[in-house]
Amino acid sequence: MSDRPSHIVIGAGISGLSAAHYAARNGRSTLVLEADARPGGCMHTHAFPELGGYWVEAGSHSCFNSYGNLLGIMDELGILSRATAKAKQSYKLWQGGARKSIVSALHPFELVRSLPKLFGGDKAGASVREYYGRGLGRKNYRDLFGPAFRSVICQPADDFPAEALFRKKPRRKDVLRSFTMPEGLSEIPQAMAAAPGITLLTGAAATAIAREGEGFSVTCADGSRHGADWLTLAVPPDVAAALLADAAPDAAAIVGAIAMAEIDTQLLVFDKSDLGVDALAGFISVDGDFLSAVSRDFLDHPELRGFAFHFPGDRLDEQARIAAACRALDAQPERLRAAASVRNRLPALRKGHAEQVAALDRALAGDRLGITGNWFLGVSIEDCVTRSRSEHERRYGGPAQTAAAAA
Ligand SMILES: Cc1cc2nc3c(=O)[nH]c(=O)nc-3n(C[C@H](O)[C@H](O)[C@H](O)COP(=O)(O)OP(=O)(O)OC[C@H]3O[C@@H](n4cnc5c(N)ncnc54)[C@H](O)[C@@H]3O)c2cc1C
Repeated sequence: MSDRPSHIVIGAGISGLSAAHYAARNGRSTLVLEADARPGGCMHTHAFPELGGYWVEAGSHSCFNSYGNLLGIMDELGILSRATAKAKQSYKLWQGGARKSIVSALHPFELVRSLPKLFGGDKAGASVREYYGRGLGRKNYRDLFGPAFRSVICQPADDFPAEALFRKKPRRKDVLRSFTMPEGLSEIPQAMAAAPGITLLTGAAATAIAREGEGFSVTCADGSRHGADWLTLAVPPDVAAALLADAAPDAAAIVGAIAMAEIDTQLLVFDKSDLGVDALAGFISVDGDFLSAVSRDFLDHPELRGFAFHFPGDRLDEQARIAAACRALDAQPERLRAAASVRNRLPALRKGHAEQVAALDRALAGDRLGITGNWFLGVSIEDCVTRSRSEHERRYGGPAQTAAAAA
């Protein structure tokens, strides 16, 4: 890469790295500025060196064969063959201080009566509670599906836009339905950041953006400045709004209205013999202190079991989070082999979000500035990559190049 890149991306989560991937594959040298010490953002596999590198997912834990754009990138990087099957386990409900089966909360007759409304219903403009309450039944929504949706997005789900929660996508039959990677999902952003044409600067928190002719200048917290003809923002909406205040005030005003949910994620590792629960996928919490939990039981280890418990941000200190998780696991806090805390952030989308995105897209029309993230189509990894791809195509024209086309 010459000293001045063609394209700068701010944020090295999956949104920013997929934007960098598409640009670099099309011959645009790309500098990625990342505030943290590692790429990946919410794709964050936490390894415990004191346990021989045993790892637990602190953020996303599953990719699917419906993630067509992500799979395309993994193919191009030669890492799709590393996709690793996850052992199939079921989730348990955590309710009234007890573990219960999922079916124990189901109201089957109400479900059968309501389902036709789900298949006939329109998600557009409806909240999760409106759409799924109608289509699954009010009691089913209250006792099972509402808590389950809250578990998926780690925040209250009632007012979330229904169309942003699950999106039907075609499945690739040649790929595992649900997969991880041998060293956890962080392998994917790490491979993306190391690809040719991409330079990653970690510890580089962008603090200001200015327009320079048709291009941009980005200033970082350490005072360094970086210039390029093209710029993509791939940071949470509150950060994007602050960065855009001078360079794109109309866009900043729209983005600034999108709220964030703060999540305290508690990672715990135990010896297998010290746990009272059988292997499970995780917990859907109906009324507990935590929102949800995901286990690492999908990839067996001879001695250890790991968990990520997600709590509403800033409610409990680490000791209280560990105590709450131990109650659900039938475990003694003093038997913990290792623990770590991670702050996660996810956008708190609301009804009417599609109109906000349409207004933002109008403000960006014709601009070399692109904005991507998990706050456009939805929060899944594939939603992020899909937005990055469409922002690439808007600015550079044509479909984002595939490996076959680039060869
Ligand atoms: C607990 C949890 C579980 C999940 N599970 C799944 C799952 O199983 N499957 C799935 O598909 N999705 C899952 N998701 C959702 C998905 O992982 C995220 O929505 C997605 O990874 C977000 O990517 P992103 O790049 O948009 O944002 P982020 O990952 O938040 O990345 C933004 C990046 O910008 C950086 N940044 C912020 N400010 C600055 C600045 N000023 N300058 C430079 N850099 C900056 C941040 O450090 C970060 O690295 C999960 C999310 C969470 C939190």
